[in-house]
Amino acid sequence: MLRILRPTAPRTAIRFIRFYSSDIINNVTPSIKKESLSPLGKHLRDSIKLTGPLTISHFMRQVLVNPLSGYYMEGDVFGKKGDFITSPEISQLCGIWYLTEWMRLGQPQKTQLIEFGPGRGTLMSDMLRTLSQFPYFYKTITDVHFVEASPGLRKMQRAALVKGSQDNDVIRIEGNKDEPPIETITRSDGVKVSWHDGIEVVPEQWSCIMAHEFFDALPIHSFEKTGTEWREMMIDIDETKESERNFRIVKSPISTAMTKTYLSDKKFSTDFKDGDRVDISPDSWGVIDRIAKYLDRNGGTGLAIDYGQDYIQGDTLRAIKDHKIIHPMCDPGTADLSADVDFKFLKEAILKGSEGVSAYGPITQKDFLQSLGIQARIEQLFKSAKSSEQRKVLLDGAERLMDPELMGRIYKVLAFAKESSDVKGEPVGFENKKFILPVEE
Ligand code: SAH
Repeated sequence: MLRILRPTAPRTAIRFIRFYSSDIINNVTPSIKKESLSPLGKHLRDSIKLTGPLTISHFMRQVLVNPLSGYYMEGDVFGKKGDFITSPEISQLCGIWYLTEWMRLGQPQKTQLIEFGPGRGTLMSDMLRTLSQFPYFYKTITDVHFVEASPGLRKMQRAALVKGSQDNDVIRIEGNKDEPPIETITRSDGVKVSWHDGIEVVPEQWSCIMAHEFFDALPIHSFEKTGTEWREMMIDIDETKESERNFRIVKSPISTAMTKTYLSDKKFSTDFKDGDRVDISPDSWGVIDRIAKYLDRNGGTGLAIDYGQDYIQGDTLRAIKDHKIIHPMCDPGTADLSADVDFKFLKEAILKGSEGVSAYGPITQKDFLQSLGIQARIEQLFKSAKSSEQRKVLLDGAERLMDPELMGRIYKVLAFAKESSDVKGEPVGFENKKFILPVEE
C-alpha cells in the first residue's frame, strides 16, 4: 500500500547466516532480566529466529509504519515527542517564504500545497492562516495534499484543517484496482484537502512542497568499513545475559548485496578507513527523486527541514521516548526512531533526477528564520505580550528556535525549485547557496 515506503530495498538475502550471539560471555556476569516485548517486538524477534537478522532499513520501517502497530500508526505520538519545533513562528515564516517564491517564480494562477509527513497538521494549519492574509496568493491555492502513512495521524490532520469534521465527511475516491483510494474533504474556504500514499498520485499542478522532519523518519541502511571491505550493520536477537534488551546491532560477517548496490562509488574505497561507518537512505533518494520529477513537470518550489548535515555520516540511528534519547534497540515500536539526513545525497538526487530543478543550501534554521525577519516578529509579539510570564515563554521559545545547538542536534533547511530560464534571483535566505553537481571523473 505505501508505495513510497518500498522504492528499492528488498530484504537482504542472508537467511543462512546466524550471528554469533550467546557464545561471547557465558558465566561472567549475573543475568539481567530481559525487557518485556510489545506484540511488534515479538513479531520481529520471531522473524529473525526464522529467517536471520534484519537490515536496519527493514527494522525501521516495521517499527515506524507497520500497519498493525508501527510507532506512528496509532495517532498522537507528538505529545510525548514534543512538537514545539512546528511552532507558529516557523509555520508563519515558511508561509511567507512560499509567498516570496510564488512571486519570484512568476505568480502562477493555480497552486497547491503538498506536505510530507505532516504529523498533527499544525504547520499546515498555521501556514494557511498566515497565507490567508495575502489574498493575491491565497486565492490561487486550490488544494492541500498530504502524503501520510498513518491513518491515526490523517484523522488528526483533518481535525486541524477542517475543524469539527467527522469521519463520514471524508469522500473516498477509488483509484485504479491496484491503487488505494484517495481521501478528500473540502474546507469552508474552498480549499480541498486530500491524503495520498506518495507524490506520484498527487494531481499535476504548480506546487509548494514541505517536508518537515520527514526525511529523518525514512529507513536507512548502515555500513562499517572492515579492512578494505564494507559490511552492513544488521539487527539480531540479543540473547546475551548482560543486556536487558532483546535486540542488538551486529556486523554482517560477509559483504551483502546491499553493500555492492549502495557503496560501489569510488569514494567509498578511497575516502574511508577501517572502522568508519556510513548511513544511506535509498528510500529518501526515491522520495526526493519523485519530488524533483514532479516539480520538473509542473513547476513549483519546496523546503526540506530536518536534522542532518551536508555530508554523509554514520551511526546516526537514534530513538526518542518522552523527550529523551534512548537506546535504539529498546522495546521496538514504543519509541520514535530516526536518523540524520544527508542533505548532499538529497541534493544529488534532485539534480540527477530532473532537468530544471535547482537545489539550495542547506542553511541553518537560525539563518533561515533571520532572513525572513524572525527578529522583528518576536519583538512585535514581545511588545503585545500581556504579562511577564508570556514574555518569558516567548523569549525561551525564540532561544530554542534560534540556537542550533540547544536541542543537541543541528537543524537545517534545504530549498529546491523549478527554475525556467526566465526566472531571476534566488530563494530568500539562500543567496549564493545554489548547489552545483560536482563534475564526475
Ligand atoms: N512534520 C511533523 C511530523 C514529523 S514525524 C513535525 O515536524 O512535527 C514524521 C511524519 O512522517 C509522521 O506524520 C509520520 O506518520 C510520517 N511518516 C513516517 N514515515 C512515513 C512514510 N514512509 N510515508 C509517509 N509518511 C510517513
